[in-house]
Amino acid sequence: MTKILVTGATGQLGQLAIAALEQRTAKENLAVLVRSDAAKEDFATRGFDARQGDYSDADSLNNAFDGIEKVLFISGSEIGQRVAQHQNVVTAAAAAGVKHIAYTSLLKAQDNPIVLAPEHKATEDAIAASGMDYTLLRNGWYSENFMMALPQILEMGQHFGAAGAGKFSPATRADMAEAAAVVLTTDGHAQKTYEIAGDESFDYAAFAQMVSDASGKAIAYVDMPAPAYKEALLGAGLPEPMAALLAQADEQAATGWLFDDSGDLAKLIGRPTTPLKDVITTALSTAA
Ligand code: NDP
Repeated sequence: MTKILVTGATGQLGQLAIAALEQRTAKENLAVLVRSDAAKEDFATRGFDARQGDYSDADSLNNAFDGIEKVLFISGSEIGQRVAQHQNVVTAAAAAGVKHIAYTSLLKAQDNPIVLAPEHKATEDAIAASGMDYTLLRNGWYSENFMMALPQILEMGQHFGAAGAGKFSPATRADMAEAAAVVLTTDGHAQKTYEIAGDESFDYAAFAQMVSDASGKAIAYVDMPAPAYKEALLGAGLPEPMAALLAQADEQAATGWLFDDSGDLAKLIGRPTTPLKDVITTALSTAA
């Protein structure tokens, strides 16, 4: 049977991808790549073929992909280091004879002006040059991102941002993980690029209205220029790199760079994507 390895298996998307893969194939066909001893032991205890490797350390990846046919390569979280890290992963996978690699990229990564995009573009290019079959899963924003400020939004009755009337088309991690599992367990995805986004698109004012409707509390959207939004995020305690990233992403979202209406995600998973209303309802019930 095809052996499939998931990198970033300890992460939020990775765990959901493994769960989705377990619905589609036997556990003995699955392997994970994790960074720490503890995570390796944890997955091994749960019956997985667990391998250890750090994207930063090429030597640690030398034997990580032995016997693996397909890889779900989940992008790393260390922004600024990922061109070299991801090249290490691609080189090791190709050297081990991996036939097909699916990579979690960013919407429209080749042209997107969001500061995160160049690392994804470089990784896409490295994968295309590697000789492996590949599938690019260009993920938009997670729906869960919109829930991170929910407590403050409810407390203040205001949602702040810098995206103007720009539309977002987010999807849940679970829907994206399911799409990745479909790509790795069905044929016809080699050399394909999918823009992975939810069925609904909305601007921040509409998001504020959805939170109002779900919570019964009036919520207004307050739009501000990106530099002022960054200052507000710093004032709320976010570290400078994260505040800068979120403000810059909003600025680009204003002109549609986090919008997508390809329908690729729904087509892959064979059902409508999870509505944001449901995500808000779940977040409100968990917070209560
Ligand atoms: P998480 O932060 O939950 O998980 C990141 C995973 O990457 C972890 O398993 C982590 O391992 C692993 N990882 C990071 N650096 C390395 C490394 N050097 N070597 C080996 N493994 C590494 O993120 P999510 O699961 O939520 O998202 C997956 C990826 O998607 C993120 O890493 C990021 O690239 C991107 N992302 C997308 C967002 C979106 O809205 N579309 C939002 C945020 C991130 P460990 O447990 O050892 O740290």
